Amino acid sequence: MTATKRATTVLHTRAELRAALQGTERPLGLVPTMGWLHEGHRTLMARARAENATTIATIFVNPRQFNEAADYQRYPRNEARDLAICADEAIDFVFAPAVEEIYPPGFDTTVSVGAVARPLEGAARPGHFEGVATVVAILFELIGADRSYFGQKDAQQVLVIRQMARDLAIPTEVIACPTVRQPDGLALSSRNVHLAPDERAAAPVLRRALLAGRARWESGERSAAAVREAMWEVLTAEPLAIPAYVSVADGRTLTELDRVIDDDPALLSLAVRFGATRLIDNEPLP
Ligand code: AMP
Repeated sequence: MTATKRATTVLHTRAELRAALQGTERPLGLVPTMGWLHEGHRTLMARARAENATTIATIFVNPRQFNEAADYQRYPRNEARDLAICADEAIDFVFAPAVEEIYPPGFDTTVSVGAVARPLEGAARPGHFEGVATVVAILFELIGADRSYFGQKDAQQVLVIRQMARDLAIPTEVIACPTVRQPDGLALSSRNVHLAPDERAAAPVLRRALLAGRARWESGERSAAAVREAMWEVLTAEPLAIPAYVSVADGRTLTELDRVIDDDPALLSLAVRFGATRLIDNEPLP
């Protein structure tokens, strides 16, 4: 809950957005989302609120970042509930455009992303990061925020967007915020709603696997293969979990490591399917 309430203005078109942002107090903080808001989104909003004079959240389920049409169709949506959450977080503006507002007829440009977008989610979901980088570039340009807030839960996304903003000379700072979890360790995600009760009960295995990897590293193990093995052991003990990948990578480039060197940033990450629902999580080292 927030102490001071300000009215939230909802904007649907580029023209409304332009008019609303003209002359607003800076700095301006942006929180891009695909809606179905949860406590993870709320922490990004609270941080944006704390650090900026004006805040804007976007709610847009971006068709270009889904590599499966069925996944796009079934992505959960509830604009009324989302707007109530934005109001509760005292967000000043919500931009909730229709698809044609972001991609008008004839739209024909894509942001081509580089090496950091290739492994992990990039390899598993062809075209995903092109879609993410394209929509975020458009939102950055339309909104001209001073700062933008993203979740560490999507660690590769943060690296891809930071690289994109730097390379395209977009002067919006990209800030990563810690992952918010359920008490049993499951990272909050809009996709958790699709988990059947037995899958939901099994899903904290992602966190347990990551913590097993961290524990192996903290015990002095520096072989990345051994750390990966510690994570695999935990995952494969859960019959409902279908692992897609387990990774121990350089925390800046995301190339797979042979050795996890002390003090060098590394990222333990994994993707796991439960039925039709695919979940990801990660743990940065040190
Ligand atoms: P999404 O609506 O899933 O595209 O997420 C919008 C933003 O919220 C992204 O920057 C996500 O990384 C972030 N986010 C999603 N889940 C969490 C979480 N559990 N903790 C922190 N941030 C999150």
